[in-house]
Amino acid sequence: MMAFGPIVILALCALSVWMGIAAVLRVCRVPRAVEPGGSCGRCGYAYTHWTRCPECGSEVSTVGIATPWLMFRHRGSMPGALFALTLMAFAMAFLLTGLTVGLCQFAGWNQHTRQSGMSTLQPPPINGRPQPLPQVSFLVHREVVGPSVNSPTRGEVVLVLLPKGATLAMTADRPDTTGAFHILHDVKDGQFVTRSDAGETIREGKGIQIEDVADWLERAGVAFDEEERRVAAAQILQEIDSSHAGALAVIGPGNLGPRGVVLASRGFSTRSIPSLPFAVVGLTGMTGITIVTSVASAVIYIVALWWVVTRRRRLMSPERSGA
Ligand SMILES: [Zn+2]
Repeated sequence: MMAFGPIVILALCALSVWMGIAAVLRVCRVPRAVEPGGSCGRCGYAYTHWTRCPECGSEVSTVGIATPWLMFRHRGSMPGALFALTLMAFAMAFLLTGLTVGLCQFAGWNQHTRQSGMSTLQPPPINGRPQPLPQVSFLVHREVVGPSVNSPTRGEVVLVLLPKGATLAMTADRPDTTGAFHILHDVKDGQFVTRSDAGETIREGKGIQIEDVADWLERAGVAFDEEERRVAAAQILQEIDSSHAGALAVIGPGNLGPRGVVLASRGFSTRSIPSLPFAVVGLTGMTGITIVTSVASAVIYIVALWWVVTRRRRLMSPERSGA
């Protein structure tokens, strides 16, 4: 459901486009009411060299003869038409973008769902063992294409483990994973790679398992004992795939030990970004939509410009004026 504001803006854009088209057509068309050989300047009756109009009785010297060429000349100037055309092109780009975004949102099939932001998993306080400030925190960034995060058609999940004291810069598209342990997981084919903060590959393969994540945690120096590490790894795996069999075997119903989970989830944000179901020069989301609609508007603009100039030149040519 679109908000009221965007609908008003789209309506204004549509109005601008319509007015632009009307203004352009006006200077490119000869009025139909005028006879080829000229008409009475008052009532439009065909001119046949009379001095007093047989239809309305007006004197030619008073009301004049309207010729197509004269009418055409007085309909508007070429610069005015080009100005209207240029404004129309911008309004059309906005209109097309708005309509495409609305279409993408309406049709869930082409929605590009980007789930990003901090999903910080950290050890909860445990009785008898006070937890210091977060020993480990994760950033989970999902960028998937599909009707929802749960049924992705492709995309990736990036898990970032922050070394102590490090801060993480979020970019518009992906978290900055330099200087952090991270896992890159392809949603579609299950390929994964885990890397150290030095950027070297720790493990890579297909079908990530508990051991891969536990090993990753251990190398990162997370202060967990073996059991905690196993549970933490299962929790992290569920961030990648909520129905991961290996993870469910550890933390599924009835499987979790008396100590419970070791990582507490904090703050998670999901934002769905409308997108075309295909990448445009490698770009998805609003950027892809904007590129397509801008190019479409530019093409329409150039074609319209060519049409206006050639048609106007043809209609204004001297051969037509003597008709
Ligand atoms: Zn007349």
